[in-house]
Amino acid sequence: MINLLSDTVTKPTPGMLQAMMQAEVGDDVFKEDPTVRALEERSAALFAQEAGLFCPSGTMANQIALKVHTRPLEEVLCDETSHIYQYEVAGYAFHSGIGLQLLSGKNGIIQAGQIEAAIRPQQDWLPKSTLVVLENTANKGGGTVYPLNEIEAIRAMCLRRKLALHMDGARIFNACLYAGYSPEHIGRQLDSISVCFSKGLGAPVGSVLLGSRDFIAEARRVRKVMGGGMRQAGYLAAAGLYALDHQVERLAEDHVHARMLAEALAQLDYVAAIRPVQTNIVIFDLIEGVSTAQLLAFLEKNSVKASAFGPQTIRFVTHLDVDRVMIETAMQVLGRFRP
Ligand SMILES: *Cc1c(COP(=O)(O)O)cnc(C)c1O
Repeated sequence: MINLLSDTVTKPTPGMLQAMMQAEVGDDVFKEDPTVRALEERSAALFAQEAGLFCPSGTMANQIALKVHTRPLEEVLCDETSHIYQYEVAGYAFHSGIGLQLLSGKNGIIQAGQIEAAIRPQQDWLPKSTLVVLENTANKGGGTVYPLNEIEAIRAMCLRRKLALHMDGARIFNACLYAGYSPEHIGRQLDSISVCFSKGLGAPVGSVLLGSRDFIAEARRVRKVMGGGMRQAGYLAAAGLYALDHQVERLAEDHVHARMLAEALAQLDYVAAIRPVQTNIVIFDLIEGVSTAQLLAFLEKNSVKASAFGPQTIRFVTHLDVDRVMIETAMQVLGRFRP
């Protein structure tokens, strides 16, 4: 099976499994798991933040960030395609009692001026705008990357207008690789960031939330009330440490593979449009009269898995369990489809 459903489908490599088996562990609710602490400290240092918190999922890391940054009746400014809006079960309302103000970005990327114009005036009948969330890379935008100057402009505006800035960095290493900026440089622009180990980095489970010492102290309490206080979680954190050592640079291959798929799609009559491909995500639309169900069924029959991203839209995601030969096979299968 050539599984292009998501970069979450990867399984631990033998080296990663070995690192997990050999992890030194303790009870992390008592802060006594040395491997979890090592992952938190190393991640925080990497992004120039003071502290980190290991979480079972990226969703939990984002939801904790929303909860700690806001009070009920406040609102978050973010792109309309954001993961926190689309795929986190309206958790912003459930956990934090806040709203989202959705902005129309370009392929998931919003701009400083656009965000500033959306800040609410202070009136008793309006929500209070207090937090900006940027998604980098922007998943539903097609794996698009924030340019450094845009992040810097947004940061300057947030400081001026007293807004906090959180980054959903589920795929931040893909963004760094594409844009050529360092995690440290990006981290310095932010109040907090969530980073996934279970996407392209290839770990089975886990994300970290990074921020100031005070922010993370409060985040620990929120993680606990959400049921995310884990005990000997070092077995999982060891996979994250292994990924940082061995599986960051190789993301570049995934980007090459995504571009290969996009170039193949560009030759096909049944493809109407392809979003600009920057990292490991390819989103494309089918021409009228061809349904995603039709193409997905054909792909599945030929051992290629992908996901529907709309009635006429499909998403491919490349990752470490899809090698060059598999990409070439998928390209051939796509070429054989006759609607
Ligand atoms: C995958 C993802 C998350 C977190 O997802 P989990 O499945 O909860 O780990 C958050 N943001 C983005 C943009 C994602 O793609």
